[in-house]
Amino acid sequence: MPGIGERLLYPVAKRWIAGYELGDAIKAAQDANSRKIRAIINRLGEHTPDVNRIESYTQEYLRIPELLEKEHIDGTISVKPSQLGLAAEVPLYKKNLVRILENSEARGLDVWVDMENSPYTEHTLQVYRELFEDHPKMGVCLQANLKRTEKDVKSIVSIGGRVRLVKGAYPENGEIAFKDRRTVEDNYLVLLKILFSEGDNFVVGTHDTMLIEEAERLGKEHGRTFEFEMLKGIRDDMKAELVAKGHRVGEYIPYGPEWYNYSKRRMRERKRNILLLARSLFG
Ligand SMILES: Cc1cc2nc3c(=O)[nH]c(=O)nc-3n(C[C@H](O)[C@H](O)[C@H](O)COP(=O)(O)OP(=O)(O)OC[C@H]3O[C@@H](n4cnc5c(N)ncnc54)[C@H](O)[C@@H]3O)c2cc1C
Repeated sequence: MPGIGERLLYPVAKRWIAGYELGDAIKAAQDANSRKIRAIINRLGEHTPDVNRIESYTQEYLRIPELLEKEHIDGTISVKPSQLGLAAEVPLYKKNLVRILENSEARGLDVWVDMENSPYTEHTLQVYRELFEDHPKMGVCLQANLKRTEKDVKSIVSIGGRVRLVKGAYPENGEIAFKDRRTVEDNYLVLLKILFSEGDNFVVGTHDTMLIEEAERLGKEHGRTFEFEMLKGIRDDMKAELVAKGHRVGEYIPYGPEWYNYSKRRMRERKRNILLLARSLFG
């Protein structure tokens, strides 16, 4: 039974999530494809040490590629390590990720790994490196708000790995993270330049106009393969504009009953969303 906070938030949150069921995500993916946008499907849920739940999340990710194929959807999946076993033990996560990779790759999909809060960073990257040689299409998200990320971008790029660069959605402490907006943007620019000069086949994950324009400029200069990706329900105008200019664009589509934490992160990102919530409460 959802608590009062969750019930109040849902009318606002539903713009960012496809719905409760996998079928809702498939519909949202078809909608994205109709706008010439690739769908990146994520089953919500995180930080679970419960082996039964971990297995059920894994099973669900094993079903999605078959459905995408059946429905002729241009898309793939993005998984959260802490829903697949990393919140329990590293070997369990690794085993489940391999099951998902083998099943998805058999259908030609490139699996992406989300980056969660900092207690998971090291193991997420360790497992990525260990599996990369056998799964070279796999990509991993890196966060510009973390001070360690420049080193991580360089090391992932040096093995030929694929990076989705984002600002970072989790509150982190000032010892390990840049705290103010401007410094995070500056670091994003530094990392973007590294990707364009040394990497390939990466993802620019942002809705920030300044960063998108800079990526377009760097794209012309360096001629790399890359894709812009944005979240469902945010900046549809910009997505359409980039598609019209001939860029590859992806939309990250989360679904599932565990939408609360994800939506709180979207709330935090923008003060205007708090106003939307207030308006939905008081008409
Ligand atoms: C494809 C994709 C995958 C991601 N995966 C991860 C991940 O694995 N790990 C992780 O930590 N983070 C992830 N993120 C989230 C990311 O870290 C940021 O929290 C999020 O993208 C907001 O940062 P921004 O770069 O869009 O810049 P912001 O400065 O937050 O936003 C720039 C502009 O975009 C619009 N905008 C941004 N957010 C909202 C919103 N919530 N509602 C309405 N408008 C908004 C506004 O116009 C705003 O001015 C992902 C983001 C994307 C796009």
